[in-house]
Amino acid sequence: MPQELNRPASELPTQCEFLVIGAGPAGSACARMLALAGRDVVLVDAQAFPREKTCGDGLVPDALAALQRLGLRETVMARAQKVSHARCIGPSGGAVEVPGEMAVLPRRLLDEILCRAAVNAGARMFAPLRFVSVLQDEQGRVMGAELSSGEQRCELRARWVVLATGAAAPPLQGADLAHRRSPSSIALRGYFELPGLEAELSQLNFVWHPRISHGYGWIFPVGAGVFNVGVAILDSHNVEDERGQRGMKNLNLRHLFAEFCAIHPLARKLVQEGRSLGELKGAPLRCNLDGAALGRPGLLATGEAIGSTYAFTGEGIGKAMETGIHAAEVLLQGQPDAELLQAYAARLELLRPRFQMYRKATSFNRYPRLVDLVIWRAGKSPRLIQSMAGILNETRMPGSLLSWRGVKRLLLG
Ligand SMILES: Cc1cc2nc3c(=O)[nH]c(=O)nc-3n(C[C@H](O)[C@H](O)[C@H](O)COP(=O)(O)OP(=O)(O)OC[C@H]3O[C@@H](n4cnc5c(N)ncnc54)[C@H](O)[C@@H]3O)c2cc1C
Repeated sequence: MPQELNRPASELPTQCEFLVIGAGPAGSACARMLALAGRDVVLVDAQAFPREKTCGDGLVPDALAALQRLGLRETVMARAQKVSHARCIGPSGGAVEVPGEMAVLPRRLLDEILCRAAVNAGARMFAPLRFVSVLQDEQGRVMGAELSSGEQRCELRARWVVLATGAAAPPLQGADLAHRRSPSSIALRGYFELPGLEAELSQLNFVWHPRISHGYGWIFPVGAGVFNVGVAILDSHNVEDERGQRGMKNLNLRHLFAEFCAIHPLARKLVQEGRSLGELKGAPLRCNLDGAALGRPGLLATGEAIGSTYAFTGEGIGKAMETGIHAAEVLLQGQPDAELLQAYAARLELLRPRFQMYRKATSFNRYPRLVDLVIWRAGKSPRLIQSMAGILNETRMPGSLLSWRGVKRLLLG
């Protein structure tokens, strides 16, 4: 018999061993790993599942690797639209195709598979149930959480709490982990149906252009003539307006989306001739493995809550699951608080160099014409395409190409 996804708050126990808050990729991955080890896990989410999550829905190789570790790769791939290349399109219309095993699956479906897998492994899921703040003992050690369901408040004590609440700032503040409220980036997407474009748009399409400076536009094929179309502004809290003022106040994603449609014929065709499947929706991203503390005694934070999304590309599903798995593995070692927190920090430190390179690479989004240079060079050099595939597959560090030294090397041939 299928296990229940959204148990009512009235059935919430008063205590558990592990309380995982947030049932996105990070929280569900963590809860599944803990439950597979036979541990007592409660998973809660502010929204009843299945639910929408504003996303491009692209699964790049690190996501498929994390799904493999969770034992869910085949289940996901059976439902997803498979993709064999990322197509990078420059301002002059040229393109380079970077090979890699990838897929597209709407988050409503992906996240349902993930949290159902946690529940099937033995986690008990309660939703809708919102995290309000942590409970702490006299020494300040976290020992559970205060949760709310409508007007009702309840408390759940736990040996360890895992916060996996994504890019929202209030939960980080409620756990006293936030270093900053503002997100790192913002993005907006819509779904459009236009059968007949599948052959032309069978890849993950990324488009750079001066009119969408500081970011890029994308078109990802969802299958059955449906496409996820969107725009992202990366490193948005550092974008300067004409008067040199930094911040997001003057950024308008809808305007940027219109610009994307103006400069890219296939985006325009989809939006003008296709059927819109719902509103355009925007959402924040937290990147660079910063912006929040990784935890404190009794509490680990994981996924986008700790900035596990890549700054240059805005991809984060894979690293959300990966950091959730790290959190579970460290918790299963059962060390004393200080050692456990240190072990978690040490694992994330190993991921940091790649995050730092992607952070530096966000400056390239200000110079979209560089993509034309890469495309021109790639046309002459299969080795360059191999390098790009290595970066996509994470067998190679991005700094070899996505750095000013890398650009200089390209220019000098
Ligand atoms: C427009 C857009 C496009 C993107 N496109 C891609 C893409 O194509 N590929 C990719 O890899 N990444 C993409 N990303 C990034 C990706 O969405 C995130 O990296 C990923 O969702 C992070 O997973 P997570 O589990 O950490 O957080 P989330 O997926 O955000 O999950 C957090 C969960 O916590 C719950 N929650 C929040 N607050 C509370 C609370 N107070 N109490 C209880 N529960 C709470 C939420 O309901 C949610 O279910 C995109 C992001 C945006 C905004």
